[in-house]
Amino acid sequence: MHRLIKDALASVAGGGAARALAAALACFDDDRPNVVRVLTYHRVDRPGARPTLNPRLISATPEGFAAQMAMLAARHPVVALADVLAAARGAAALPARAVLVTFDDACLDFAEHAWPAMRRLGLPATVFVPTAYPDDPRRAFWWDRLYHALWHGRFPGGLDAGGRRWPLAGEDDRRRAYDHLGRQVKALPHAAAMDLVDRVCAAAGLDGQGPEPAVMGWPALRSLAAEGVALAPHTRTHPLLQRVGAAEAEAEIAGSLADLAREVGAAPPALAYPDGGHDAGTLAAARSAGIEVAFTTRSGVNRLDGLDAPGRLRLRRINVGRRVTPAVLRARLVAWPLRHAG
Ligand SMILES: [Zn+2]
Repeated sequence: MHRLIKDALASVAGGGAARALAAALACFDDDRPNVVRVLTYHRVDRPGARPTLNPRLISATPEGFAAQMAMLAARHPVVALADVLAAARGAAALPARAVLVTFDDACLDFAEHAWPAMRRLGLPATVFVPTAYPDDPRRAFWWDRLYHALWHGRFPGGLDAGGRRWPLAGEDDRRRAYDHLGRQVKALPHAAAMDLVDRVCAAAGLDGQGPEPAVMGWPALRSLAAEGVALAPHTRTHPLLQRVGAAEAEAEIAGSLADLAREVGAAPPALAYPDGGHDAGTLAAARSAGIEVAFTTRSGVNRLDGLDAPGRLRLRRINVGRRVTPAVLRARLVAWPLRHAG
């Protein structure tokens, strides 16, 4: 039922009908404590501001994000990661209708646009950092490398990749190639996936030039931590953890905690799985690295009361995309009692 309502909301996004529906849905909200809604953002930026980075990772424009945060500040207690950890341990209770705002990948635009908007409103933020990136501005995410190669590369005779030939003559060709190759990257073992991206980049005729830097350096991250932003592990190199072996998964998680402890002085035992990817082996790796709560990309809200240890390593989030208006977001934050099942 709520899927239909969400679709209806998306189709009238921004209109008065969406606001009226959101207000009506609020009657069904779950007001019990210890139910946490977790929002996921990636980049908050203007399309075109960083033309070599993949624009699909933009969750909101700065203006759209500010409007969403104003809605949150008016209607929800926005809690800190430490509050969620304390509630998961049973040491404290979260207020009713609690929301945690999270950012994956520690992108440069967080400091430019997202954090200033949150700081103005006194809202806490959590940033999941892939900790091999702040040291190395040349290191780039595979989705930015693939985007940069396909949109900015030169392929006069087309591209042979992923078992097919791609003409790459126009926008639609590039989008089709990206979608197909991106699906392959997520399905292959990690090393083979990175080989595929390397081959596309090598064929692009860009003389080894990659996309511009996307991730903040340690000095910027330390400044944010000093201002109260919670920085938590997002692995070191951002592999899909279910596509690497158990030992590598644990090294990625433990290494990310160690990097944060060394560079920032604090490493909360909370993890966001890269791209949400996890399986039973990933959960075991997270547990043995000392992680207490971990976030997936599965959609939904979380009731922390009575949640067992494996459940705390499979928390759900609500992904925010660029078409989401404050009214749509308001409706998506409704914690339907039935959504606690499963
Ligand atoms: Zn990520």
